[in-house]
Amino acid sequence: MSGRFQQSGFALGRTSSGAQVLLDGRPVTRASDAGFFYLGFDRDAGPRANLQVVERGAETARTLDIGRAEYDIQRISGLRQVYKGKASPELEARIAAESQRKAAAFASRLNRDDFRDGFSAPLHDFRVTARFGGQRIVDGRPRPPHYGIDLAAPSGTPVYSPAGGIVVLAETGMLYEGGLVMIDHGQGVVTAYLHLSSVDVMRGETVSRGRRIGAVGASGRATGPHLCWRLKWRGRHMNPMLMVGARTPV
Ligand SMILES: [Zn+2]
Repeated sequence: MSGRFQQSGFALGRTSSGAQVLLDGRPVTRASDAGFFYLGFDRDAGPRANLQVVERGAETARTLDIGRAEYDIQRISGLRQVYKGKASPELEARIAAESQRKAAAFASRLNRDDFRDGFSAPLHDFRVTARFGGQRIVDGRPRPPHYGIDLAAPSGTPVYSPAGGIVVLAETGMLYEGGLVMIDHGQGVVTAYLHLSSVDVMRGETVSRGRRIGAVGASGRATGPHLCWRLKWRGRHMNPMLMVGARTPV
């Protein structure tokens, strides 16, 4: 097994084809046909994770020590309430339709294992402007954490697929995300690329590692050109940057 055993991190394992993998007693995933699996640890996971693999009726168990991750927490008080007018029915319908398409793409569960060799970075050159998991606490009330990593680069900078996969969403002009590409890397690992100025792939297309999928932009709700990069594993938010340079399990 290899991986980054820490909060928002992961384990990459190899077992037998289709083996059931359990985390803290709950079935969470199955290994690919070649026996590879990805297992994610929550943003606020506890110090230990119990991993069980059931293959051909036999069970192996292992306890992993999960390191703490540091998140950027910003406490703000006395923020003036900004009145937001009610959205028009048209805008509300658009928001609902777009969130349904995003949810459907994140729910993709292709039986592949393109994640098994780890990721390469989606940009050749970038500056991290917002780390994964950062959170603002306004007047004592926690806001939803930032479930992506923001990589600043000039508009038009090529964005590359960090690993192989199938494009499950490719759209320009999403209200919040602008140009948006989502890729299924197998066994519940889906990555997303937000605010693109151009989208260079189509839904259903197979991509390999290093394939250009679009370009950095500031489309949608963005204050400047950057790539917001996200990773969801079976509905849970993970830090995609931790996958960069990960080793293949043996
Ligand atoms: Zn972001």
